[in-house]
Amino acid sequence: MQNLLHNLNPEQLAAVTLPAQPALILAGAGSGKTRVLTTRIAWLIQTGQVSPGGILAVTFTNKAAKEMLTRLSAMLPINTRGMWIGTFHGLCNRLLRAHHRDAGLPSTFQILDSGDQLSFIKRLLKANNIDDEKFPPKTLMYFINGAKDQGLRAAQVDAYDDFNRKLVGLYDLYDAQCQRDGVVDFAELLLRTYELLSRNQPLREHYQDRFRHILVDEFQDTNDLQYKWLKLMAGEGSKKGGAVFAVGDDDQSIYAFRGANVGNMSAFEREFQVQNLIKLEQNYRSHGHILDSANVLIEHNSKRLGKNLRTDAGHGEPVRIMESSSDIQEANWIIEEAKNLIREGSLRSEIAILYRSNAQSRVIEHALFTANIPYRVYGGQRFFERAEIKHAIAYLQLMDNPHNDSAFLRVVNFPTRGIGARSLEQLQDVARQQNMSMYAAVPYVAGKAGSSLANFVKLIEGARFETQNLPLPEMVKIVLEVSSLLTHYQTEKEGADRIENLEQLVSAATLFVSEEGFNKEAPAFAGPASSAAVLLESGNGDQIIDADAALPTVMSPLSAFLSHASLEAGDNQAQAGQDAMQLMTVHSAKGLEFDAVFITGLEEGLFPHENSAQEESGVEEERRLMYVAITRARKRLYLSFSQTRMLHGQTRYNMRSRFLDELPEESLKWLTPRVQPTWFGNKKSAWDEAPDDAANRIAQTFKKSNDNMGWRIGQSVTHEKFGDGVIEKIIGGSGGAVASAYINFGKIGVKQLDLSSAKLQKI
Ligand code: ATP
Ligand code: MG
Repeated sequence: MQNLLHNLNPEQLAAVTLPAQPALILAGAGSGKTRVLTTRIAWLIQTGQVSPGGILAVTFTNKAAKEMLTRLSAMLPINTRGMWIGTFHGLCNRLLRAHHRDAGLPSTFQILDSGDQLSFIKRLLKANNIDDEKFPPKTLMYFINGAKDQGLRAAQVDAYDDFNRKLVGLYDLYDAQCQRDGVVDFAELLLRTYELLSRNQPLREHYQDRFRHILVDEFQDTNDLQYKWLKLMAGEGSKKGGAVFAVGDDDQSIYAFRGANVGNMSAFEREFQVQNLIKLEQNYRSHGHILDSANVLIEHNSKRLGKNLRTDAGHGEPVRIMESSSDIQEANWIIEEAKNLIREGSLRSEIAILYRSNAQSRVIEHALFTANIPYRVYGGQRFFERAEIKHAIAYLQLMDNPHNDSAFLRVVNFPTRGIGARSLEQLQDVARQQNMSMYAAVPYVAGKAGSSLANFVKLIEGARFETQNLPLPEMVKIVLEVSSLLTHYQTEKEGADRIENLEQLVSAATLFVSEEGFNKEAPAFAGPASSAAVLLESGNGDQIIDADAALPTVMSPLSAFLSHASLEAGDNQAQAGQDAMQLMTVHSAKGLEFDAVFITGLEEGLFPHENSAQEESGVEEERRLMYVAITRARKRLYLSFSQTRMLHGQTRYNMRSRFLDELPEESLKWLTPRVQPTWFGNKKSAWDEAPDDAANRIAQTFKKSNDNMGWRIGQSVTHEKFGDGVIEKIIGGSGGAVASAYINFGKIGVKQLDLSSAKLQKI
């Protein structure tokens, strides 16, 4: 038997071998939290305390779940397939599929990703004649998701004014429409499971008995509903339920904007009466200078639970800092550095380029492409989010569940079949009157419109019939043909890429069928109808069929593949397996590690992001994000910023990020001359400290820019209304001309003013 425990330090060992009681492992980055969690699962199984089926483990991403399963397989001679390790969404999807009847969902319910959700809402507003300027679809979407993330249905939301009351009403309409179409959004997966288990005592007790151990990674980023969900599963307050083992790091809480609540850590400690609190302080990931930088940086935050990290790894190399004149120069420099690393023997996949916003990747991608270096982008436009793939998926969705109006509208006239907007409006009206899906309403539409629509229905029914006994990949192939998607893109000028992607979809289906353990030859539609398990489950609340028994008979390969497409959109299968450089946002780098890391775009307004920079709590969240970024690196860390940058069609002239000036001198190596800090927010004024250097820097930064009409960063100005201030940032308009500036008016705060019209004078 493999000794799982021999390479753990004493605190890690204590954590891994804790008794089955609530436990919180609070520790900084790279201290082995994820490793402890995985080892604990293996240890519990190996020592016979629980069977693999008695474990419920929650990870933050699908990638993390896969990695955990791979590590477990290496530690234990067991088949990890089918273990309940996944994201909250993935696990809930699994429960809802198995218990769809009790949850009030059709067996073929489909998942709306955020893009689908937004178009769904737009359609809803239109159908109800709601002015989308007064009620912007995105506002409604955030409102609905926000409420669901707190576990609230429309009836439970406290509306405090007319606007809110209207939003609540629309939330109600939205839910009803989802129900009718057989679709659920991401937050609904959780809320529906939560409601199902709250309401259905036998089912709840079944799972509480079953999952003796509940383990949660990245606990600091759970939201209110996820925490409530965990409490329910763990039977908090009752004698039932498994032991919750939570690991997290308050300094890495970076999802507040999505409703994550770091307060869940202290709530957990209190409400579960946690006796087992373990801190891990030894870092195994990063060399000394990197770790010191992270530690010193995060000390600038005030709200912390408090902990520190040390390493035995030695100082290692200093953190390198580079200033470029433009984003293009920055990208070229990164490529040169990366080439050196590769020449010295680094794997491409051990080099990561991180950025704060997705929009920054374009320039870097272009440079990598030109230099012919393979790379992989995480979280950019993902495979399953590409238009052509969404179209193909919509055909498959309609074959699986014809009442999905979103899918219907996406492809009813794509490729074009002469079905115009008027015909669709007519159809929509009928569907609303009859309270049925558009698909079902087709026979009620007369005339030419009616016959074109009927032809579309025939197409879908025909495809369904033709593929009913075929395995999934075959089915996908046929759908690409009969839908005319392939022919459509063959005639399109830039269609070659899209055709290649559509062909990849067939490969994705093949891979999926083999990875998920579906019999390769099994028909894609096989599933619910003939299942005895399902019959037993329905209508008899006392008869509990466990999800593992019900699932193979409930979920057809097609349904499973479609939820995979919505939930696991992050995996870009097209490039899997190749040694490629890794590009991603800092958010998606959470939990990962690389030998060398570049953090790019370290400029005020970008990182920290301008949306967060006005409030201290926003800046603290950005700083945690920077802490996450720094602690991804094992051996080499590069920090870079640029004097100018093209973003969203504007040239920006930003100052370097305040975070660079919060790092410890002795750990840094400036590759370009370091000028005095140029950031002078509320805390300090660099201009007072070092006027000459500051002036030099301005001269250096802007000598190339003639078009700025004399405005420059650091310029003192006076405004009729706001008084005296200093220009902090200048935003360029088209053609490089200056358009507006962020001006710090001291007590009044920072204002963005249009330089051509504002009543400003230089002083
Ligand atoms: P993060 O907060 O970034 O998620 P973490 O606390 O989860 O980090 P891990 O990813 O589990 O940290 O571990 C960081 C690295 O340290 C991994 O490469 C892991 O294998 C290694 N490591 C952890 N504990 C030990 C140990 N006792 N001996 C040697 N290496 C270790
Ligand atoms: Mg981790």
